[in-house]
Amino acid sequence: MHRLLLAAPFALLATPAHAATGEAVNPWVALAYLVSGVFFILALRGLSSPATSRTGNRFGMIGMLIAVVTTLLTQIPQKTGDLANSYVGPDFASLGEILIAIAIGAIIGVTIARRIAMTAMPELVAAFHSLVGLAAVLVGWAAYLNPGAFGLLVGDGIGAVSKVEMGLGIAIGAITFSGSVIAFAKLSGRMSGSPILLPARHVINLGTLAAIIVFTALFAMAGPSETMPLIIALTVLAFLIGFLLIIPIGGADMPVVVSMLNSYSGWAAAAMGFTLGNTAMIITGALVGSSGAILSYIMCRAMNRSFISVIAGGFGAEDGAGGGEAREARPYKQGSADDAAFMLEQAEKVIIIPGYGMAVAQAQHALREMTDILEEKGVDVKFAIHPVAGRMPGHMNVLLAEASVDYDKVFELEDINSEFAQADVAFIIGANDVVNPAAKTDKSSPIYGMPVFDVDKAKQVFFIKRSMGGVGYAGVDNDVFYMDQTMMLLSDAKKMVEEIVKALD
Ligand code: NDP
Repeated sequence: MHRLLLAAPFALLATPAHAATGEAVNPWVALAYLVSGVFFILALRGLSSPATSRTGNRFGMIGMLIAVVTTLLTQIPQKTGDLANSYVGPDFASLGEILIAIAIGAIIGVTIARRIAMTAMPELVAAFHSLVGLAAVLVGWAAYLNPGAFGLLVGDGIGAVSKVEMGLGIAIGAITFSGSVIAFAKLSGRMSGSPILLPARHVINLGTLAAIIVFTALFAMAGPSETMPLIIALTVLAFLIGFLLIIPIGGADMPVVVSMLNSYSGWAAAAMGFTLGNTAMIITGALVGSSGAILSYIMCRAMNRSFISVIAGGFGAEDGAGGGEAREARPYKQGSADDAAFMLEQAEKVIIIPGYGMAVAQAQHALREMTDILEEKGVDVKFAIHPVAGRMPGHMNVLLAEASVDYDKVFELEDINSEFAQADVAFIIGANDVVNPAAKTDKSSPIYGMPVFDVDKAKQVFFIKRSMGGVGYAGVDNDVFYMDQTMMLLSDAKKMVEEIVKALD
């Protein structure tokens, strides 16, 4: 019975098919890939709201499982009885070797995912994008060096269309790789977040991009004996442009860069899907590519940045984002947990603005406890989330969801900003850049133009941070510290909120 069950999918899926060779596509394979594509779309739908994100994640996992199993099964020649030693295509690894590779990758992936701190997530995402890019480059090169194994041979050479797909896959993959490596180095502090500005960088970048396009076209048209120098040139130039595009991007634009690289990695995978004749890869790559592009666009809009200037690199870089310049000492008021507790219970309406520091301190659970107590006392409490608060898109939403804060108390910038004028307290916990009024008033500031919360309109402001010396991600001073109605609560965020909770009790 077990054997029969095991054999059934093989019988259904065992006809190898390849678009490039014109072989008929097995309808069961097409159906399986279609089903996995539907699961991926459901996954994206689920991931669009914190309430449904877990379900969305599961859909994604199911879709990926279907796609991987289908791909493995379709590549096993029907005539081979012994699965462990059957070969996936002429010059490929055996199924046993593939399963070992999957197991090693899974162990590394699970270990990293369990150990990674939430605050280090953006750099991990950047590192993973670099792997997608590198994989696309390697697949492209493997297909170039051994076209027969990929069913790409037309006569004695590779077909022109396949070469265009291959060139695009390698170019986008290489840009994704080197760009992600630089993004990883900047986000993890291994490299300074300050922009590195080459003279005439826009001319160099445009020239390099144009050269890549020309080399791809020449590669597609060249005869079999002339292609090697062209594919080498386009690969090297693509690695170079990835590097050149990301080094001039300053700290404040890094969130957009991460989501843009996400988009690139999707397009690289889609291009490879064409080379491999794998529908699931084309669908998945296109979904990742387009959703990443839409997210980049939304984030640009949220930060009032022009999408094109961020992609071109170096926008807002002239003014030294992430610099952490010297600041003059100015008078400010410092308060205690008791002061904060007293004023919070008197308030009718409190708006909490969490930021990166809440994530560092892991203060979300204590914050939820504080919210519960305040609500029991009849205070209206809302959370205000800035689109780039923290260090990755949705960072604050994930942490608040982890602490079981009700989704209907969590509001986006544009939905809540007008309510600060009626708020008794704006409670800023570990946020800084997202409440900095310099974004509205100081044209020389690296964050100028980014919409920020109007906390200055609230009657009272509490500002939790560890010291007056620390600055936000953009490295600039914040006038909110020195406003008449601001009380600085200088402490680790979790410790301070726990003390407020004690004082409220
Ligand atoms: P910021 O980085 O501007 O500020 C963080 C604040 O938290 C600082 O005031 C810091 O001050 C304080 N802090 C740090 N650790 C603690 C702690 N343990 N306890 C209490 N306070 C602490 O954060 P925002 O969320 O306001 O802004 C996000 C910034 O990051 C934006 O500039 C955005 O562009 C950028 N960014 C966003 C990404 C995203 O995708 N969301 C990705 C990459 C960058 P102190 O050190 O004194 O404690």
